[in-house]
Amino acid sequence: MKKRQFIKNMGLVTGAAMIAPSVLTSCSSPEVDSFKLWAWVGNGANKTKDEWEAQFNRLKSLGFHGVLAGGGKEALNISVPLANSLGLEIHSWQWVMNRPGNEEAQAHPEWYAVSREGNSSLDVNPYVGYYQWLCPSKPEVQDWIVKGMKNIASVEGLSGVQLDYVRYCDVILPRGLWEKYDLVQDHEMPQFDFCYCNTCRSKFKSESGYDPLELEDPSQDEAWRQFRYDSITNLVNRIADEVHAMDRQLSASVFATPKLARKLVRQAWDEWNLDFVFPMIYYQFYDESIEFVKSGTQEGLDALNGTKPLYTAQYLHDKTPQDVREMVKLTKEAGAQGLAFYDYGLITPEIEQVLAEI
Ligand SMILES: [Zn+2]
Repeated sequence: MKKRQFIKNMGLVTGAAMIAPSVLTSCSSPEVDSFKLWAWVGNGANKTKDEWEAQFNRLKSLGFHGVLAGGGKEALNISVPLANSLGLEIHSWQWVMNRPGNEEAQAHPEWYAVSREGNSSLDVNPYVGYYQWLCPSKPEVQDWIVKGMKNIASVEGLSGVQLDYVRYCDVILPRGLWEKYDLVQDHEMPQFDFCYCNTCRSKFKSESGYDPLELEDPSQDEAWRQFRYDSITNLVNRIADEVHAMDRQLSASVFATPKLARKLVRQAWDEWNLDFVFPMIYYQFYDESIEFVKSGTQEGLDALNGTKPLYTAQYLHDKTPQDVREMVKLTKEAGAQGLAFYDYGLITPEIEQVLAEI
């Protein structure tokens, strides 16, 4: 849906509520009628056409609206026509700043983000072996990323591109993950704080007059924090310009709320030129109860202020059918436009039954 049309529809909903509030409370409301379901569908071990088809058929029969499909162009050339033939919207799921084992990027070791300790994330992987983060400030990195997104967007019949890992490395992990990594992250630790490469430091210095490494505590510097929010925002908006020019939509999976996303991974996602957004309100990662699905969703909706649809993303690992029923209820109560599930492989027959009831 185009932004203008979406705002128009929001206006209709609001208008209807003002004229006849009883209509919305007593029978099916326009919001609930248009509640959309999405699923991430990975490329697995390079799925066959029959496997894609079976999975898309199952999602379609469960009433899903769209899929966020893994794999490169080769996989999309199979999955996109299939999704279109079934009437499923299909967006290409793309990792942006974290590029583990990417040979093209590895040919340029200087492209990788550098920690406050001075280590490249190519050589010293923060937290996990698959964390290899690129620097968002280098023009050559930006050009390479934008070129890759344009190449993906050129697949015929594709609805859009969905950005993932479009952020800095977690300078602070969500609260529920501290024990797993044996960390107490009540402050920003230098080995997880990026990017202090020469490009970032000199660009910031030319704008502000000082080098962030010369600060006693760089984590307390408002301008340095803002510089990094803007680095990601500028890149996302550049991708948006290119993808929109190709008549494709742009979306992103982001951290739970705009406030947490800024604090933990420097994502100011409520400022991005996206067509819609998937906040990953994985409540257990934040050491929160399931009620956080509702309050977190509301925070995002408040920040977006009706400018674009918000689909709450949920991780299905370790979830009971009752949990899923509750997620759906809380997301609807918060007023989101739908739910996205990570991922297809976790939709068990028991969960399938819950989804069929929606
Ligand atoms: Zn940098």
